[in-house]
Amino acid sequence: MIDLFAFKGYPVAVMGLGRSGLAAAAALQASGAEVWAWDDDPQRRADAAAAGVPVVDLDTVDLGAAAALVLAPGIPHTHPVPHPLATRARAAGVEIIGDIELLARSEHDATWIGITGTNGKSTTTTLIGHILKQSGRPVAVGGNLGMPVLALPALGPTGTYVLELSSYQLEQTVSAPLAVAVLLNITPDHLDRHGGMDGYVRAKSLIFAQHPVITPPAQRVAVIGTDDEHCRQLRRALEQQQPDVTVIPVSVERRVPGGVYVRHGVLVDDTESQAEEIMDLREVVALPGRHNWQNAAAAFAATRAVGVHPALIARSLTSFPGLAHRQQQVAQVGGVSFVNDSKATNADAAAKALACYHDIYWILGGKAKEGGLAGLEPLMSRVRHAFLIGAATDSFAAWLDGKVPFDRCGTMDVAVAAATERAFAEKGRGGATVLLSPACASFDQFADFEARGAAFAACVDLVFERHRNAGDRS
Ligand code: ADP
Repeated sequence: MIDLFAFKGYPVAVMGLGRSGLAAAAALQASGAEVWAWDDDPQRRADAAAAGVPVVDLDTVDLGAAAALVLAPGIPHTHPVPHPLATRARAAGVEIIGDIELLARSEHDATWIGITGTNGKSTTTTLIGHILKQSGRPVAVGGNLGMPVLALPALGPTGTYVLELSSYQLEQTVSAPLAVAVLLNITPDHLDRHGGMDGYVRAKSLIFAQHPVITPPAQRVAVIGTDDEHCRQLRRALEQQQPDVTVIPVSVERRVPGGVYVRHGVLVDDTESQAEEIMDLREVVALPGRHNWQNAAAAFAATRAVGVHPALIARSLTSFPGLAHRQQQVAQVGGVSFVNDSKATNADAAAKALACYHDIYWILGGKAKEGGLAGLEPLMSRVRHAFLIGAATDSFAAWLDGKVPFDRCGTMDVAVAAATERAFAEKGRGGATVLLSPACASFDQFADFEARGAAFAACVDLVFERHRNAGDRS
C-alpha cells in the first residue's frame, strides 16, 4: 500500500468512485487522512459505502477545509463545462489533483517513466514494463491502463514506476518526478474535453513540464515521436526552453540523428551517433505494423535511457507477448490466422490493422463513430470479404457496397462461423486472416471492447471445437 503521509490527519475530498477513485480513497484512509468520498451515481456511492469508504455529500461540507480535491480523470474540470464541484473547489482555493499526483508526493524517490500520446500508450507502457522486468528491476506498471496507481506497490528508491498518462491525468499532476517522459504522437482526439486542438496539444505537452518535485530526477530525458507536426513543434520548443533535458527523437519515417529510428523494419540506435542496427522488427510477431515500430522504438529509447543494455532490450522485444485485443493472434490453424483487434474502436485504428495483413476476412461493426469508415478505401483491396455485426450494419453495408462483398451477420458467433468457413474455402497458398477490427465502439452489444474481444476468441474456440467433434464422429 502506498503511504500518503502528506495527507495524514487532513480531510481530503475524493470525487468519482470508479477504480482509481476507490483505490485513492482506500490509500488515503489507510494513511490516516479523513476521506470525504462522493460520486454523482447513487449506485457507486452505495457500493463504495458497502466497501467501507466514508461517503460524504460534498454539497454539505466546508470544501475549503479540504487539503485537496482528488478528481477522477473522467470528470471535466474545465471543458466542455467544469463539474460544479471543480468550480466550487477553485473558488475555495482547494487544489484539484489526481491519483498520479498523490503517488508522486509519496514515491518521489523512485524512478518514474511516463508515457503519453494519442495512440500506442498502452502498448508502449506494457512494453517498457516488460523490458524492465526482464532486466530484473523492481517495476510497477499502471496508470491509465491496468492497475490504478494507488493500488500499485510502494517501490522506494530502487524501483521504477512505468505509468501510462492520459491527457486528463496530466492536467491533474503537478509534481511527477519523471526521469523519462515519452510522447508518442498527437492526432485530434478528446477535443471537447480540452476546448479544441490547442488545448489538447497543451495537455499532452504537460508530460515535459518541469515540476517542483522534492527530489528532482538526476537526469531528465524526453523521448518524442517526431512523425507528426504537433510533436515536432513540441520538440523544438523543448530544446529551446529546457536545454537541461536530453531529447531523444524517434521516427519510423526518416533517419533522426541522435535518436532511435526504424528503416525498412530495422531498428536503428543513433543515440550515440553510431547508427547501430539493433534488430529486424518485422520478425517480432507481437508487434505488427509501422505503428508498433514506433512503440518499439520509443520503448527502446526509454529503457536505454535508464541504462538497460541494447542486447537485452532486443531480446525483450522478441519475447514480448503482446497485448490482448490489439492485433492479438488468438489462433492459427491451417494457414488461417485469427486476430483479435477489438480495441480498434474507430476507422483510424482499424486502418492500422488492415495495413498489416492480406486476404482479410474482416469482422466489423458495432456502434459507429463519427466519420464511419471514411479513409479506409485504399485498404479495401486487402479485404476478401466483410462480415457485419451490430448497429452500424446498414450504414457500413452502404459504404462497402461496390467495394467489397459482405454478409450481414448480426452477431459475433454468426460472423466468426461465416468468416472461418469462407477463409478456409477460399484461402490460397499465402493463407488468410480472419480479423476482428470493428472500427466501432462496442456498447450496442458488449459491455466494453474487452468483452467483445473475449467473445471473438470464445467463438473462434467454439468453431474449432465443433470441427473437432464433427471430425471425431465421422
Ligand atoms: P492507447 O493506449 O493509446 O489507446 P494502444 O496501445 O491500446 O493505444 O493501441 C490502440 C490501437 O491504436 C491499436 O490497436 C492500434 O490500432 C493503434 N496504435 C497503436 N500504436 C500506435 C501508434 N504508435 N500510432 C498510431 N496508432 C497506434
